[in-house]
Amino acid sequence: MERCALVTGSSRGIGRAVAEELARQGWAVCINYIRSRQAAEETAERIRAGGGRAIAVQADVADGAAVATMVQTAEEALGAVELLVNNAGVAGQALFQDISDEMWDRYLSVNLGGARNAIRAVLPHMLHEKRGCIVNISSIWGLRGASCEVAYACTKGALIALTRSLAMELAPSGIRVNCVAPGVINTDMVQVLGQETLGALAEQTPLGRLGTPEDIAAAVGYFASDRASFVTGQVLCADGGFIV
Ligand code: NAP
Repeated sequence: MERCALVTGSSRGIGRAVAEELARQGWAVCINYIRSRQAAEETAERIRAGGGRAIAVQADVADGAAVATMVQTAEEALGAVELLVNNAGVAGQALFQDISDEMWDRYLSVNLGGARNAIRAVLPHMLHEKRGCIVNISSIWGLRGASCEVAYACTKGALIALTRSLAMELAPSGIRVNCVAPGVINTDMVQVLGQETLGALAEQTPLGRLGTPEDIAAAVGYFASDRASFVTGQVLCADGGFIV
């Protein structure tokens, strides 16, 4: 029977590349989005056109009830979720003293709360089967810190703590939990920085370029595969050497 993977925030960017990589690995994939219905449906359609199985499901990952319903929908259509990639995220730049309560709460509830909601929804089946894999998408800013991105960096640092703690808690149940910390990846998320800043960031990257969504998908694909069957609690930086 096919295995089902849920990739949150997979209508665009890194999540979409992850979904396509997992489909190539033979996973049936649940594509999740909050607003970009057309892009999500196109991603699912591309996977189906390539011979894979995929559905697109709208849910705000910050909404626990919506996430539970999404997981139920995925299970009914594709089978129980055995791989969860917590990728959905929001980012933005502001000085610390300009971060509103609403912004602080939203970053935490999407980037960290969203991961918790999704893990809670898929865990009963994983625990029952004593098998499963969770990959959290953090950021190098969660490891190193980032000026004008305090709220974002806090959520990404917390995802690393979540990864390591949960990996220890779930290892006896046969469930692996790992984390990918991307560097600067050329997606919609970073376009707000402008071409000049992106060019400077590429120059600061030892490998001399920005990352691609496919660079991150390859790292997630490794953690998801049997080649990583003895690997848990790890943070893999895919950043072109940015924070070495
Ligand atoms: P992106 O291009 O902005 O795409 C964000 C994705 O997340 C979209 O699919 C979006 O759905 C979805 N999303 C946002 N809020 C959501 C919510 N509340 N519920 C469900 N889905 C939601 O971002 P990206 O660059 O691909 O980033 C993906 C992940 O990698 C994020 O966690 C980000 O923090 C992390 N990351 C990115 C970089 C980078 O340089 N790009 C670096 C380090 C880490 P819609 O299309 O419906 O809006």
